[in-house]
Amino acid sequence: MRLVGQVVRELNAYLSGHPDERARIEPLFETLLDHARRGHCRHGGGCPVISAGALVVNERGEVLKARSPHGVWQFVETHVGPTDVTPRTAALRVVRETFGPLDVWSCPTHDDAPLVVDVLPAHAAPHYGFRYVFGAFSSTLPSALQDNGVAQWMPLTSIRSDVLQERVRKVLATGV
Ligand SMILES: [Zn+2]
Repeated sequence: MRLVGQVVRELNAYLSGHPDERARIEPLFETLLDHARRGHCRHGGGCPVISAGALVVNERGEVLKARSPHGVWQFVETHVGPTDVTPRTAALRVVRETFGPLDVWSCPTHDDAPLVVDVLPAHAAPHYGFRYVFGAFSSTLPSALQDNGVAQWMPLTSIRSDVLQERVRKVLATGV
């Protein structure tokens, strides 16, 4: 990830909208600032991992899921790699990789912050999930992806996280 400053800005914007979440996100903040100050990472294998996820919603209020190799329908997600500029561009990358020419746009969130920042169960290192919401017209999803069982529009109620479902509802209420 090349633009730490942009991630810090996004986190600041996110926390100004969700101040009650500061405590759980604070460790990521500390790490990013430490990286910026030193110009390198000194965490070894324990450096926090950031994933970027994309929730694509259409004009009918449905969300787009992809089938995993294990047959589970889920939102697309990827690790933010060294070539990704920000988590948001990583989320757009995985949308492109999974859904091909699907034409998406960013939906308004608080100062372009992620819709949700999840703290995921840690393995070797702390793991954070940045989830962004994008809009798309249902008709632009290539029909081959649906026919082959790769991608599918699903109702909002298929979002398992209540917090996420509620926030997507709010975005939809202001128009995709
Ligand atoms: Zn580090």
